[in-house]
Amino acid sequence: MNTPLRLGISACLLGEKVRYDGGHKLDRSLKEAFDRYVEWVPVCPEVECGLSVPREPMRLVGDPATPRLVTEVSGVDHTERMHRWTQKKLSSLEKMGLCGFVFKSRSPSSGLRRVKVYSGLGEAPRLGRGLFAAAFVERFPHLPVEDEERLADPKVRENFIERLFVVGRQHSLSPHPAESMLRNRW
Ligand code: SF4
Repeated sequence: MNTPLRLGISACLLGEKVRYDGGHKLDRSLKEAFDRYVEWVPVCPEVECGLSVPREPMRLVGDPATPRLVTEVSGVDHTERMHRWTQKKLSSLEKMGLCGFVFKSRSPSSGLRRVKVYSGLGEAPRLGRGLFAAAFVERFPHLPVEDEERLADPKVRENFIERLFVVGRQHSLSPHPAESMLRNRW
């Protein structure tokens, strides 16, 4: 029996109103492309670690290798809160057998690459990775991960699909029935 292709995703990309301003970032094309074939596992690190909606926006600050997660105006440091929640969450995600994850780009919590990291000088090179995304990649180095910006490119999307099904085959030990159907869409 095939296990479902469980694909983690930043919850705001599915249309959940979890962003700091109470809005969402629904990505219709992404959702439509994958909806019939995957079981989404939405995750919003900022809300799930106990922050409210709406909330003060945050940024990464300090050393890009070990940045702090700090609110933009009042300077409240949520780094330890996020780290504590992340370790528990990753353990529960591990038990679910995820095949991959789609991250929201540019987020200080969920961004996979080129997230701004502010220094004391006010400069913000795009050298960072959101705290949750960084911990996810460290815990699951062999799982396919992408962000919604890169997945807008058909070639990147196709490659992601291929890697997703490889993991799915490893989990279910047989080709997933959705595999040929999904591939025919590209
Ligand atoms: S980018 Fe991540 S932390 Fe921010 S609202 Fe979306 S899921 Fe939540």
